[in-house]
Formats: sequence, C-alpha cells, structure tokens
Amino acid sequence: MNQTPRNPFSIHSTAVSPPGAQGAPRPVFGSNSVPPLWRSGALWPRLFQVTSTFSRKRFPTLRGKFQADGEQCLYTESREFWTEHHKSWRDIMDKLRNIDTFLLDLDGTFYLGDHLYPWSLPFVATCERLGKRFIFVTNNSSRKGDYYVEKIRKMGVSITADQVFTAGQATIFYLKKYDYPRKIYLVGTPSLEEEFRQAGFILTEEDPETVVLGFDLTLTYEKLRSACSFIRQGIPFIATHPDFNCPTPEGPIPDCGAMIALITASTGVEPKIIGKPYPEMIEALRAKYGLEDPGKVAMVGDRLYTDIAMGKAAGITSILVLSGETKSDDLAASDVQPDVILDNLGEIAKILNQDSLG
Ligand SMILES: [Mg+2]
Repeated sequence: MNQTPRNPFSIHSTAVSPPGAQGAPRPVFGSNSVPPLWRSGALWPRLFQVTSTFSRKRFPTLRGKFQADGEQCLYTESREFWTEHHKSWRDIMDKLRNIDTFLLDLDGTFYLGDHLYPWSLPFVATCERLGKRFIFVTNNSSRKGDYYVEKIRKMGVSITADQVFTAGQATIFYLKKYDYPRKIYLVGTPSLEEEFRQAGFILTEEDPETVVLGFDLTLTYEKLRSACSFIRQGIPFIATHPDFNCPTPEGPIPDCGAMIALITASTGVEPKIIGKPYPEMIEALRAKYGLEDPGKVAMVGDRLYTDIAMGKAAGITSILVLSGETKSDDLAASDVQPDVILDNLGEIAKILNQDSLG
C-alpha cells in the first residue's frame, strides 16, 4: 500500500506548520508611507519625483495600501495604487487575467456561516461573463458535497454539483486510489457517514481496517475511546483535514485538527492527513478537474497554512483574501507568503473588469 503519492504538479511539497504563538510581527506596510498619485500616464515617474517629498509632508497620515515585494502585492482599492510599483501591478493584472480556473475556499472567502459576502455575486458574474471556471474547495468535512451545493444555490448562486469539492471527497478518492480496505471506523457526522456509504465503504465498529477522522460535530467520548483503541492496535489512521478551528459568526470552534491533536496525544500516532494544504488534496483535484496547466489555476482563500500553502505547494497562483481568518499583521510572522493579497474576492472581479490603468 503506497501511502506517499506523488505530488501531481511535481512542485515542491511543503511541510507546513500551523501558526502558533509568534513573536511581535515585523511591520509590513511602513515602508510605503507615501500617498497615491491619482492618475496614470507617461509623466508619472517624473511627477512622483517632484511631488513625493511634498506629499510625505502634506499627507503624513496616509499609509501605503499597496505593497510589492517581488511578486507579492497588497491591493485594497482598485483605483488606488503606488506608482513605484506600476510594473509589478501590471504583472499581477496579467497573471490574474491569465487564470482560467479559480479554486475558491468557502468560509471566510465566499461566505461566513450562512451569510454570503456582498462581493461574491459580482465575482461569480464576472467569471461567468469572462468564461472562467470556479470550483469551491473546502476542508470542512462535516457535511457532504451535496450540502454545500444546495447551500450555495440557496444563496442565489447557480452552480453544478461538480463545482464543490470537499476534504471528505478527497479522502474517499485517496482511500480508493490506494486500495484501502472498505471496512472503516468513521468518526464523523451523519452527513459524512452517508457520503462514505454512498461511495461503497462499510462503516463498522467491529474489526475495522481503517480509522477515518472527519470534522465531527457529533463527537462523543465513546467515539474517541473507540478510535484510540483501534489506532493503538495498529489500524491505519486517516484524517480529512488539519484545520484546528472552524470559523463561525460566533467565533472559532474546534475543528478536525484539534481532534487529531487529542487522539495523537493519547495514542502517540499521527494520522495521514488529506485536505488542504497536502498534496493528496491537489492530486484529487487534478484527477477530477484536469488542471493540467498550473499557470492557469489560482487558489483563493483566507487561511495561510491551508489555502495559501496548498497553492504554493502546487505551484499555482495563490491569492490571500483578508476577509476571513488572516489579518495583514499575520503575514509578517508567517513562513507562507501568498503571491497576491487582496481585501476580498470582489477585488479580483474589479481587476478582471478593469480595462486600463487610467
Ligand atoms: Mg476559509
């Protein structure tokens, strides 16, 4: 049984650590403390030289809203950007326009809980107008894929069943591809249980051959005790995704990663983890959707250690949105740095709709 499948994009695979307690973050935006020029044109560079000294004195409280460091850029308002980064900005625009498939995180990116973000519909409309594909990729394995399809449709977005892919589905793909035995002890919600049964697995508490842990909102001590017992017997331990917390409108709640930590603390066994950012998730996505050209695929998400880390591992464009978990101050302390940083998904629509820099 091969438990270490090849990264399908043959890009470097990352060993990603979730963010722990960090020291004081280094300042990110302080170096750009000059105000924007409001119009584009050939005279910009000269105008900038003439006005910059005056502007620094005249508008000392204006802070940089655009940062370019190599290919990284922070962009917060479509019509405001910094002249000294003009070329980098054009590169970002060209890169985004070249994308034909956007892999989208859900919570914190497209919606929060049951509330659709206001910029999500404009993004969808722009993709449809330009013929670009978008696929929702979520680590949340507490529900099966059909649930998310229905939830998104109820929010007024017309999508097909194929436009949602969950870590639960990726785990099923992985178990089948590497011929894991079909008798499973599943620690998961009734929805995840149904998805596994529909995929042909036998869920049992008697002599299982694999233990699978999902984001179980129905977790009980009895389930934990049984799972730990089976794992101590040497039965393979698979987990759907590594997230420690799930964002909700009321604040974060313990997710699969926290449950992994508990079981690992008890048994000393670390699971094989499937979801974002691990290569197994990328492999499953590529198997289902093609995605042959990494240069035409972007991963958009709000979490550095899952969404962005997967994008980096796959060699696709990684776009961080600041509408969810990650705040701009978190970036300085992170080893995972996105290619593009935007306030939210709506900024992608603005960029794609922008005909010129003027
Ligand atoms: Mg998210």
